[in-house]
Amino acid sequence: MTTTTTVDSELANILYDRLHLHSSDAHIAVVGDEAFAICDKKYHNVSHSDTVGGLSSYEHCDAILAANVLNDHDLYKDNSRLNSLIRSLLHRLLDGGFAVVSGTVEDGQAVARLTHFFDVFRSDGEHDTTIGFEFIEARNLSTEVQQHQNWLRLVWVLRRTQFESHHETTFRDFLDNHQYKGSCVDAYEWIFGPGFISPGGAKENLHYLEKLQINSNQRMLDIGVGIGGSAMQVAQTYGAEVVGIDLSSNMIAVALDRAQKAKNTKVSFVITDVLKVEFAAASFDFVYSRDCIHHIPDSKKLFGRIYQWLKPHGKVMITVYSQGPGVLSEKFKKYVKEFQYNFHTLQEYTTILKGIGFGVVAVDDVSDRLKATLQNEIDKFERQKDEFISKFSEEKYNVELTGWHSKIGYIKEKNLVWAQIYAVKS
Ligand code: SAM
Repeated sequence: MTTTTTVDSELANILYDRLHLHSSDAHIAVVGDEAFAICDKKYHNVSHSDTVGGLSSYEHCDAILAANVLNDHDLYKDNSRLNSLIRSLLHRLLDGGFAVVSGTVEDGQAVARLTHFFDVFRSDGEHDTTIGFEFIEARNLSTEVQQHQNWLRLVWVLRRTQFESHHETTFRDFLDNHQYKGSCVDAYEWIFGPGFISPGGAKENLHYLEKLQINSNQRMLDIGVGIGGSAMQVAQTYGAEVVGIDLSSNMIAVALDRAQKAKNTKVSFVITDVLKVEFAAASFDFVYSRDCIHHIPDSKKLFGRIYQWLKPHGKVMITVYSQGPGVLSEKFKKYVKEFQYNFHTLQEYTTILKGIGFGVVAVDDVSDRLKATLQNEIDKFERQKDEFISKFSEEKYNVELTGWHSKIGYIKEKNLVWAQIYAVKS
């Protein structure tokens, strides 16, 4: 079997997993010879074209698999060609139909750019509707990683859906254009340390990892993996396999570029929402997450999914910003609203995890660690003020320094609590 066939089998399987197609009427259009040969064996009604342009004769498709179309780098650098590709895919699909689009791109930047386009593109549908793609995921193809140490061959999975208007935005767009804008990510990494977007960087992360007794045969899911520092640390320190997921394409763009340099085939990355991604049941020994899940609106759903994905006796280790017992100040409420955080109390987390069925559940207040770390980071800021300002700006310096002082204030007022969640599936 050739390499192309193997990668294309992975694509066909991704399509198959998403569609759960059993209907012989389902119509799938495929661009690419190898992908067509594989799909033709799996499905009953498959049409083939050499190019996306050739799809114009097909309508009302349940799915389109456009294999390798993103190998054409000029296509995704040109806004009008990219828009016409997306429009053409959208208008050939039924509502709810899937587009699976793949290719090897130049770098992480290209991944972020493509994801943004797929996510925010809107078009006029029939009967005054607005249509676009619901962004499901963009993942590096594991066959390609294993065979060629290439993290830049990716597949995007998108579903045609209706939107309220051309301006309806998404949470991914909010993250990538607000808190985790490219320049903000760089500044955060400067503060926290290489590879990390969370307090204390690599050293603090090791503190939590050490509690898990990880070995090289095990598999971890890292939710909100950011720019990938923890995933790389786990792969390098323990030899375990890590799948890192994050909804911010700016974050995963950096993680992919770094994986491409480090060539550690134990790590792989997916841009996706943890509430949408699909993993097989009982497929992870650990679910790990650092300072991410206060972004997630539905914690019951989140922990229900984590429980499913864990093997029996699998462990959860999470740090998360949570709500303290103090009277909430107006300033704190504004901070929570601005970042669209969803804070819970420690008791609420305990109740959710026990309700789902976890055997061991320990939710602890580790705010003293956060307070000490934030203070260290403020000291570094002040010592290296000139360097920070020369890399970023004086305005950014003042904003971040004020933000760090505010967080210490929230902890002192018991509005903010840093929680460590440890749980074991029975
Ligand atoms: N864990 C990383 C670290 O320690 O360096 C990054 C932490 S950063 C503070 C929180 C991360 O959670 C961001 O990268 C953000 O994009 C991600 N995130 C937020 N909502 C998410 C969601 N629904 N699904 C997946 N990731 C999400």
